[in-house]
Amino acid sequence: MTHLFENYARWDVEIVSGSGANVKDTTGKDYLDFTSGIGVCNLGHCHPQVVEATANQLEKIWHTSNLFKSSLQEEVAEKLTSHSMGEYVFFCNSGAEANEAAIKLARKFTEKSKIITFLQSFHGRTFATMAATGQDKVKQGFGSMLETFVHLPYNDVDALKNEIGHETAAIMLEIVQGEGGVHVAEEDFLATVEQLCKDYGVLLIIDEVQTGIGRTGKPFAYQHFNLSPDIITSAKGLGNGFPTGAMIGKKYLKDAFNPGSHGSTFGGNPLAMSAAKATLDLIFEEEFLNEVTKKGEYFVSKLEEIFSQLEHFKTIRHKGLMVGVEFSEEVGSMISLLRENGLLALVAGPNVIRFLPPLTVTYGEMDAALGIISGTLLDSKKVTC
Ligand SMILES: *Cc1c(COP(=O)(O)O)cnc(C)c1O
Repeated sequence: MTHLFENYARWDVEIVSGSGANVKDTTGKDYLDFTSGIGVCNLGHCHPQVVEATANQLEKIWHTSNLFKSSLQEEVAEKLTSHSMGEYVFFCNSGAEANEAAIKLARKFTEKSKIITFLQSFHGRTFATMAATGQDKVKQGFGSMLETFVHLPYNDVDALKNEIGHETAAIMLEIVQGEGGVHVAEEDFLATVEQLCKDYGVLLIIDEVQTGIGRTGKPFAYQHFNLSPDIITSAKGLGNGFPTGAMIGKKYLKDAFNPGSHGSTFGGNPLAMSAAKATLDLIFEEEFLNEVTKKGEYFVSKLEEIFSQLEHFKTIRHKGLMVGVEFSEEVGSMISLLRENGLLALVAGPNVIRFLPPLTVTYGEMDAALGIISGTLLDSKKVTC
């Protein structure tokens, strides 16, 4: 029997080792991992440079607390701010904590409490970020929610114009809604969001927890759209699997996070920072990021060829190597079949297959994955074209 709360519907597979895009389970079976641990191991499993940096730190010191100065935190903060619109960074341990910090900072800076978020969004599982999330299933059974948040339809300019006002503190959104089904924001919508924020003195918070750290072919996904948000949040890929999160904000927000206003015991931990530093060194390189874009185009064009032959296929949406394949029926059984045949993929809502391969995936590995997909799905489903 299990002594774990059953708050996850776990697959009956245990992964025990991994290298790059390849993982092995307890029975010795190999898989291509196109989940990257839900968009976390963007450099693949056990990337040698991240392993080395973290292992070196492991023998120096593990934890000092934020009562002390930290040049490792300064170095990672320098990398994050020099590749974004931000000037200051707060380190924490997860995506929800980064969003929690952003929500607190926005409320404190503006002295207002209303925050607009969007339907199908996902911002985390803490009390505030659960309330921010635009999906009822996440909130069921937990009683009344924080009243801070108003949820609007994504990409709906009119709804936003009707809702935003001088009492609004912030708008928080994902550039590509990950958990909600890989929905990409429209350029016009984002331009309107930014303009309305300026008109009403509202802060723009972009949740880059899943889209950031190179996943879409830019350091952060907002950079595809020429936006300049006030705050962005990061986590998942930041430590390539070592738990860490960050909130990055513009200069003028500085005084709202004064000593004693917010904190985290583990945030900016030396092991997390050495993993993050090594990760960002590799990912925030223009050549590396251009490759992500190219690989995304290649993978999606080949996926189109395969999936368009299937009944119930609707569409593919993607940005870089964040890919969603939508069907008009549930995809759980397809994910299970792919797994049995050695390819790990995710769902994003009931009808969307989500692929988040490591950004270091090779063309050979993509071809192998495509082979598994066509072998599995074209044989098992009725082909209608
Ligand atoms: C995963 C995710 C979160 C929550 O991150 P945790 O580290 O699980 O707290 C928040 N926002 C987005 C967009 C995410 O994808």
